Amino acid sequence: MNGPAGKVKDRWDVIVVGAGHAGCEAAAAAARLGARVALVTLRADNLGQLSCNPAIGGLGKGHLVCEIDALDGVMARAADAAGIQFRILNRRKGPAVRGPRAQIDRALYRRAMASILGSYERLDILSGEVADLTVDGCGRCTGVVLANGRVLLAGAVVLTTGTFLRGVIHIGEERREAGRVGEAPAVALATRLQDLDLCLGRLKTGTPPRLDGRTIDYGALERQDGDHPPKPFSLLTKEIAQRQVPCHITHTSPKGHALIRENLHRAPIYSGQIEGQGPRYCPSIEDKVVRFAERERHQIFLEPEGLEDTTVYPNGISTSLPKDVQKALLKSIAGLERAVMLQPGYAIEYDYVDPRQLSPALECRRLPGLFLAGQINGTTGYEEAAAQGLIAGLNAGRRAGGLPADRVPDRAQAYIGVLIDDLVTRGVTEPYRMFTSRAEYRLLLRADNADQRLTPWGSSFGLVGPAREKHFQDKCAALAKARAEVAELNATPNELNRRGLAVKKDGQRRGPMELLRQVEVTWGQVTELWPSLKDFRADVIEQIEIEARYAGYLDRQNADVLAFRRDEGLRLPKDLNYSEISGLSNEAREILERACPNSLGAAARLPGMTPAAVLLLLRYAQAGSNRTEGERVA
Ligand code: FAD
Repeated sequence: MNGPAGKVKDRWDVIVVGAGHAGCEAAAAAARLGARVALVTLRADNLGQLSCNPAIGGLGKGHLVCEIDALDGVMARAADAAGIQFRILNRRKGPAVRGPRAQIDRALYRRAMASILGSYERLDILSGEVADLTVDGCGRCTGVVLANGRVLLAGAVVLTTGTFLRGVIHIGEERREAGRVGEAPAVALATRLQDLDLCLGRLKTGTPPRLDGRTIDYGALERQDGDHPPKPFSLLTKEIAQRQVPCHITHTSPKGHALIRENLHRAPIYSGQIEGQGPRYCPSIEDKVVRFAERERHQIFLEPEGLEDTTVYPNGISTSLPKDVQKALLKSIAGLERAVMLQPGYAIEYDYVDPRQLSPALECRRLPGLFLAGQINGTTGYEEAAAQGLIAGLNAGRRAGGLPADRVPDRAQAYIGVLIDDLVTRGVTEPYRMFTSRAEYRLLLRADNADQRLTPWGSSFGLVGPAREKHFQDKCAALAKARAEVAELNATPNELNRRGLAVKKDGQRRGPMELLRQVEVTWGQVTELWPSLKDFRADVIEQIEIEARYAGYLDRQNADVLAFRRDEGLRLPKDLNYSEISGLSNEAREILERACPNSLGAAARLPGMTPAAVLLLLRYAQAGSNRTEGERVA
């Protein structure tokens, strides 16, 4: 073992470093598998702290939360316990792109997370700074060393340190080292990762100022309420118990834009003070004013941070301009003329680890036993972090138990699969966030069917507890019964026409599924014809209706998935000697050697791979599939 010699050596199956969104999910997943887990974090009193916006879910992100829930993860349940405004975004669009979202009470969320994690008997939560990793003579990560010298050993370690690795905060000309506001950065650990030859990069993200809600003039502003009744994220939550509150909408003004332009030289992203790449799709207000110069105003959502907290988060004006400019900017915004700024906005630069160095199970290829999840892998967002945490925790638990670390959903099964595949095959050039447009099979990857796609998969290796298993079985039984009942119902064209449904008089009997395929036919009309359908559960109706309306598209997408899985099924040996494949260009060989793709499909998705190189690989893989099982290495 190298690293500093510690005095005390304690052993767990899995050690998770960091109790943000990735860490909490990783620790819970490993514990569900039966592993003994230590969750080590800088401050044990802020588990699941929301560093930036007080909200969970949204387009693409809401899908991730539902998938985490389907795998019995913790984020959805904590969000339900802390949600103070729930909305389904894109409600009027197709079911594939609807995104559940909730405003979250920060304090309630921390409390809910502490309570859920506290219910795992095999999970210990420890306060401390991890400053080093222990590595054995075979190059495997075997544990961590705390800043006080205490050594903790484990079968696998999961690092989820967020924006803390060599974090630096910028506010105008001011620059200070920090992991996020009020917390110290992790410098020793970043240095150690570099010494271990992991390739690190630098990224940047930002947050808006926080306001005292009591000083906002809401009278002049548009009010936005949530859905009534609020729909929980988790299938295990019966109803949302806490009070719901509105948000308000305001806009920046030409006066504010002029002020920003006058002060651009003091903005760290324009003065050259920040080197890290920020997220293009989530720009700071100074960035928006420069990039969209023709726009006279930008929308701002005023989001409450909690029921007992008067702090308001102005979503849309993330900034690292100097404090005096931020204050002047607020005065130029309707409703905020007299608003008191409680905390200035800031940008943060931090190290991330190039995720192309990870296996799909998020294990470092160069350092087996070490898993990475969350913002450390170049993503941004709580949901992206939690999704990775769940997969890293699951595989770390398996690794510690002597099982292969190879359980990852694929791109056709889950947004989680899309996220991880994008990270490990393509890497990142800016903080990565999930969008529904990143998924090829989005009609199949809906929020409403996350359980159908993932719960049996998770159950098959012990990730899903008995309560969820029972809920899932009950729903499957109700769905099967409903489908059978629907299949029995039909009526003649004459009967349908008499009931006001215009159908061709072609002598064909039609049932609910055929009728619902016609855009203009509503579920209400169908239940008027066959009143027994009114007794179906709401979640069953939702699914049956989607299956009926999108049947043709779903069939086509299922056929595409079969083709995709064929390529994924063509495994490439881990130790494949690419120079043996004649005709492969040097460029393609280098790409493949660097990435070590485990399937033909993964190889084809690597940036820079040409169709000719993929064809050569296909021939090689097909020949390989004719070899004996013993010769093949997955
Ligand atoms: P975090 O939630 O950051 O958790 C990291 C955890 O690791 C913490 O508990 C910390 O205490 C612990 N830790 C760190 N180092 C050590 C160590 N050495 N030893 C022990 N424990 C350690 N997301 C968006 O989607 N949109 C945004 O606009 C956005 N803006 C952001 C702005 C700022 C200023 C910040 C800080 C974050 C922003 N985020 C944004 C990102 C969001 O907060 C993160 O993506 C998310 O929290 C990442 O989760 P995580 O679990 O990877 O890390």
